[in-house]
Amino acid sequence: MRCRAGLQFNEPLGRHTRIGTGGPAALLALARSAEDVRNVVTMCSQKGWPLMVIGKGSNLLVPDEGFQGCMLKLAGELRSIELDVRHGIVRAGGGASLMGLGLLLARGGYPEFTYMGVIPGSVGGAVRMNAGIDSREAIEKDFLRLRALDPATGETVIIEKDEIGFAYRTSCLAGRPLIILEAVFRLPANILPAHETLAALRALLKRRHAAQPRCYRTFGSTFKNPPAPARAAGWYLEQVGMRGMHLGGAMVAREHANWILNTGGATSSDVLSLMRTGRTRVFETFGIHLEEEVIVAAQAARMPVK
Ligand SMILES: Cc1cc2nc3c(=O)[nH]c(=O)nc-3n(C[C@H](O)[C@H](O)[C@H](O)COP(=O)(O)OP(=O)(O)OC[C@H]3O[C@@H](n4cnc5c(N)ncnc54)[C@H](O)[C@@H]3O)c2cc1C
Repeated sequence: MRCRAGLQFNEPLGRHTRIGTGGPAALLALARSAEDVRNVVTMCSQKGWPLMVIGKGSNLLVPDEGFQGCMLKLAGELRSIELDVRHGIVRAGGGASLMGLGLLLARGGYPEFTYMGVIPGSVGGAVRMNAGIDSREAIEKDFLRLRALDPATGETVIIEKDEIGFAYRTSCLAGRPLIILEAVFRLPANILPAHETLAALRALLKRRHAAQPRCYRTFGSTFKNPPAPARAAGWYLEQVGMRGMHLGGAMVAREHANWILNTGGATSSDVLSLMRTGRTRVFETFGIHLEEEVIVAAQAARMPVK
């Protein structure tokens, strides 16, 4: 069978992750349409290759040994965004930029989506992670449904919000690996003048830039915040002396102890060692188990291709 998706063999995944570490994927497939995605799934099934979908790699740590299978990336029409004001919805391709979607909706005067404009990543990755800036301003808020390809059956499925099991920085898609082709969000009726929503977006960006490290490669928060009444993960990591700790080219940010930076030449092993040290110290000192927010690719579910 001929696969029309763009194929790159032995592609270094450090080029496709924000932290910039990780070995090569045996194959990286660039799918520009749902048909391309189906062809890649069929090809992997025929060859017995593990398959994993990568968005913009903003929350992904790939092992230094690489990924012995096919990494699928969405492009072309799978990155498009369609604002359908008449039906009160916006459709975004799984590979579309979340920040691009947030900016478009801010230009349209929709205040509810400001948070999207400050989170790196793709729409598919954001839905899988239930990305957000707190528990209220997150993907699940105005989400309606998604269209996905199920690699286990090769079928396209529509999944409604109540079947997705959204929770803090996760969804049941973590356990049911689907390839998200499109997500649909409801457009709220109240619209503000665009200059107000754009100003709100600029202000939020400014606040984040002031509080977070800039100019480094990172995947953002390493660990999820433990449930209340516990404090934020960064607080515990700071108490156990993680702030500013170096290992090889990896460093715990001075501004935010829950962020790990690639200051140049870091490996995924450096990053994982810092993560282990932080988690162990927090557990030994406070008895709190920090759960990873970052997806470590070796641990991520590989898609059971049909
Ligand atoms: C500087 C910085 C700041 C950040 N701030 C925040 C923040 O404020 N809030 C927050 O929630 N996150 C934040 N993050 C983390 C990250 O932006 C989000 O988790 C984002 O949603 C990841 O999207 P992605 O496309 O990069 O996914 P990736 O990192 O590529 O992948 C993450 C997971 O999603 C899966 N996935 C990706 N695309 C699809 C698809 N189409 N179908 C099915 N599964 C898919 C992958 O297989 C993987 O399991 C930040 C990251 C950085 C680098």
